Amino acid sequence: MPCIVELIQGDITQIQADVLVSAANSGLRGGGGVDGAIHGVAGPELLQACREIGGCPTGSAVMTDAFGLQERGVKKVIHAVGPIWQGGGKGEAELLKSAYHASLMLAESAALKSIAFPSISTGVYGFPLEQAAPLALEVAGDFAQNHAKNLTKIIFVLFDQMGHDVFQALLET
Ligand code: ADP
Repeated sequence: MPCIVELIQGDITQIQADVLVSAANSGLRGGGGVDGAIHGVAGPELLQACREIGGCPTGSAVMTDAFGLQERGVKKVIHAVGPIWQGGGKGEAELLKSAYHASLMLAESAALKSIAFPSISTGVYGFPLEQAAPLALEVAGDFAQNHAKNLTKIIFVLFDQMGHDVFQALLET
C-alpha cells in the first residue's frame, strides 16, 4: 500500500487516526495548546502515563496509550518534543525534523496505519510557520516514499486557516 500525506484544517482531537501526535514539552508535564487539547480529551491517565516515563529529550518522541481517546478510534498518543525557537542558529531545524522522524518511526514500529500531526513548535515554541512547514513536509514525504511499510496515511492537522494555507501551498508544488 502506498503511503499518502494529507492536510486537514481543524482540531486534532476530532481526527480518527491510529495515533495522534502531541507537541509536548520535554518534561511531559502537559501544557496548553495542542497538548492541552489532547490531554483534555484523553483524561488524567494520560498525564499519569507521561509522569511514569518522566521526560523526553528535544527532537525525540515517546508513545503511550490513548486512554479516553480510544472511544474515538485512536489507539496511541505520541508525545513529540520540538525545539523552542531561539533565532534559528541553535539547531532548531534539525531538532524539528528529528521530532517528526522519531514519531514516524514509533508509529511504524508499532504497526500503526495512520498518524495525525499538529504543526510542532509553531505555537508557544515560536518556530516560524513558513520555515517549519517545509521541514515537516520534507520528513513526512521522505518517510512516506522510502520507509513506510505499515503506515498508509500521514495527516497534518492545521488548527487555523493560515497554517493550512501555508502547508497546502507547499504540498501543491
Ligand atoms: P508548541 O509548544 O510545540 O509550539 P503549541 O501547542 O503551542 O505547541 O502549538 C503547536 C501548533 O498546534 C500551533 O500551530 C497551534 O495553532 C496548533 N494547535 C493548537 N491546538 C490545536 C488542536 N486542538 N489541534 C491541532 N492543532 C492545534
